[in-house]
Amino acid sequence: MNIHEYQGKEILSSFGVRVQRGIVAQDAKAAVDAAKKLTEQTGTGWHVLKAQVHAGGRGKGGGVKLAKNLHEVEDIAGKIIGMNLVTPQTSAEGKKVHQVLVAEDVYYPGDNEPEEYYMSVLLNRSSSRNMIMYSTEGGVDIETVADKTPHLIYTEEIDPAVGLMPFQARKIAFNLNLSGTAFKEMTKFVMSLYEAFSKSDSSLFEINPVLKTSDDKILAVDAKVTLDDNSLFRHKDYAEMRDVREENPVEVEARELGLNYVDLDGNVGCMVNGAGLAMATMDLIKQAGGEPANFLDVGGTADAKRVEEAFGLILKDNKVKAILVNIFGGIVRCDRVAQGIVDAYKNMEAAGNAITVPIIVRLQGTNADIAKEIIDNSGLDVYSAIEFQEAADKVQEVLS
Ligand code: GDP
Ligand code: MG
Repeated sequence: MNIHEYQGKEILSSFGVRVQRGIVAQDAKAAVDAAKKLTEQTGTGWHVLKAQVHAGGRGKGGGVKLAKNLHEVEDIAGKIIGMNLVTPQTSAEGKKVHQVLVAEDVYYPGDNEPEEYYMSVLLNRSSSRNMIMYSTEGGVDIETVADKTPHLIYTEEIDPAVGLMPFQARKIAFNLNLSGTAFKEMTKFVMSLYEAFSKSDSSLFEINPVLKTSDDKILAVDAKVTLDDNSLFRHKDYAEMRDVREENPVEVEARELGLNYVDLDGNVGCMVNGAGLAMATMDLIKQAGGEPANFLDVGGTADAKRVEEAFGLILKDNKVKAILVNIFGGIVRCDRVAQGIVDAYKNMEAAGNAITVPIIVRLQGTNADIAKEIIDNSGLDVYSAIEFQEAADKVQEVLS
């Protein structure tokens, strides 16, 4: 689950990581109040206003702006809230901004050499260990650094048995060319950052930039935090940070229905029971020359209601030109699933939501032969298949 920068900073801060302080605001007036409050708390007269959307590269898209007085705060906040922010990480339509983070300006006026570093914490899947990735070349162009000068990006792997060791934090501070107070501050920053990462059950932290001010403070100016969905049951307060406005509406609806759905770019809708079978089905569709439009695992209960909900979701995507249903009847009997499909088809027709694309159904397992009969005798635009390959080929046939 992705969260906003201001929420990520709240989590970091709760573990003692120093962050650029800020207050989130929903409209221009609240932004002015937030700025006044920040001035009381921090003494800053200048504020930076940052669009809160689930996408990076906001600075490049005009979503991060400096305000030198309260008039500018009001003016800029008014412009940012409600805008459609287009960044290198959004689609061409961009993302609608609903709120703005009013933050203290931490790039002191007259400070000509603020140092911006890059730091992320993530899992290295090939070594099965968490690692800290970091670079002296932080700021808004880290992608170019990774592309053109990858030797400027360092990694430090963490042994899960002992966690991040102080010597590793010192090595990072050393590689970032720090000394004196800044060196000590950086080791503290890195240790608390890693503690925050592991205790919050996050799967990604990306702090870009980490800033060194001219008076040697080290702080997180940006925070991209991805929480592990499977851990949210033990972090109720984090679960509440979900902002469904930032998520794909069909995926949100699927989650509410208890269906596992991921939107993809192709034109073959898939309805499958079991995540493994869903992956195999997507592979086979590709192998037969098609492109899956989604990943959808309907889970154990494939009755008419469930099937109808799943069809409804798949058909929200108007790229879908055919649907492949691939269900293994182990606990659930194939004939019941087949009847469920036929009933769902008819119910949707009666409700004025008729399915207008061909459906290929492959049912294997208990009572598969009875299921095939039900499909074949239904008189609907539904085709049956017993073999996996046969089903994938049939999809290509109806598409061509
Ligand atoms: P991103 O563009 O989505 O990655 O957003 P960031 O939070 O990283 O901000 C982008 C850039 O805005 C940073 O790299 C800084 O150069 C600049 N910036 C962020 N905070 C401040 C601030 O307090 N003062 C000034 N002057 N610039 C800032
Ligand atoms: Mg950034």
